[in-house]
Amino acid sequence: MKRRNTPDPRLTTPRRAGAPLPFARHPRWAAVADADWNDWRWQMRNALRRPEQFEALFALSGDERQALASLGDGLPVSVTPFYASLMDPDDPDCPLRRTIIPRTAEHTIGPDELKDPCGEDADTVAPGLVHRYPDRVLFLAVGTCAVYCRYCTRSRMVGGAEGYSFQRAKWQMAVDYIARHPEIRDVLISGGDPLLLEDNHLDDLLGMLRAVPHVEIIRIGTKIPAVLPQRITPRLTQILRKYHPFMMSLHFLHPSELVPEVVAACERLADAGIPLGSQTVLLKGVNDDATVLKELMHRLLMARVRPYYLYQCDPIQGSAHFRTPVQTGIRMIESLRGHTSGYAVPTFVIDTPGGGGKVPVSPHYVIGQMGEQWVLRNWANKVYEYTDPALGQPNGDG
Ligand SMILES: *Cc1c(COP(=O)(O)O)cnc(C)c1O
Repeated sequence: MKRRNTPDPRLTTPRRAGAPLPFARHPRWAAVADADWNDWRWQMRNALRRPEQFEALFALSGDERQALASLGDGLPVSVTPFYASLMDPDDPDCPLRRTIIPRTAEHTIGPDELKDPCGEDADTVAPGLVHRYPDRVLFLAVGTCAVYCRYCTRSRMVGGAEGYSFQRAKWQMAVDYIARHPEIRDVLISGGDPLLLEDNHLDDLLGMLRAVPHVEIIRIGTKIPAVLPQRITPRLTQILRKYHPFMMSLHFLHPSELVPEVVAACERLADAGIPLGSQTVLLKGVNDDATVLKELMHRLLMARVRPYYLYQCDPIQGSAHFRTPVQTGIRMIESLRGHTSGYAVPTFVIDTPGGGGKVPVSPHYVIGQMGEQWVLRNWANKVYEYTDPALGQPNGDG
């Protein structure tokens, strides 16, 4: 049995720091024509969904085999040939593989685990529309993904496809709610993965939202650039750029995802003027390692993606094998802040059970405070003092 977090050989072979990662298709697809491979529809048509397809490509562990054979009607299994090629076919502890191929531990439900851990259903005000914060909404507009992450916070609701006209009727109800609420200035479209929509349907959805005068910014949350970079076509970026100010949060887990095709997809989005942030879920045996996480953040910056959030894994049912102690996340931030570019440091957040929303959790840098004296420690653990301006000074707030 290999050590957890076995370094990906592609990351440890001597090379210039940050040099592009080599990419090779799994031998199963070596003979596929480039025109097919580079076509996102081909990737979706050929996604692995059935146990025997995994059996043919991977040396499955007994546990993986059993989990694949005993999938209920919960979260489906799916992975694009592109993303499957990033996984080690021989090592079940391969970080990406752990997140995509199910384990029997998924069936063990802990006492504090929930179907809807962030309490989204209670804040749902129209079909797919979660209104929790004063000025912005989360719009779950699509129910399918290219790849299903086993730690998915919305495993209760993704995986079923529905027809476009049905979908559009529900979008209209959500957009009507937004139009009636002038305080909503920011709409975050997620799902499911919004970039799985056909170009004209996505154009339609973005157009409906842009037509609401008080909507200032529109965002999309997606994992597509990592798992299906072929979807980021020039035609798609032409559509997206019509809706500025428009920004995106891209889901990334591990530095081994940032192969040249993925970096190029991010660059196409950045060249369309779209500010790109990253979202990473901290996962046991996947990325709960300071070296791995720092390399991920560096590679994201080189792909022009600014690290945004590092998430504590939500306590969905059957997630104990993924979840790390909160202290691990704090340690990860501590290992980044000050040690590398401030731009490489995301905010560590816990999306609180019960619907409290995202709460930032950070290392303690304030050691003490008395009156106007603040005692601080820096990234290297040295202690410094800072004195507030004296109260009652001219132009002060005293
Ligand atoms: C994460 C989230 C948002 C957006 O939060 P930001 O901190 O602005 O990125 C909005 N609504 C809900 C329900 C969310 O979970």
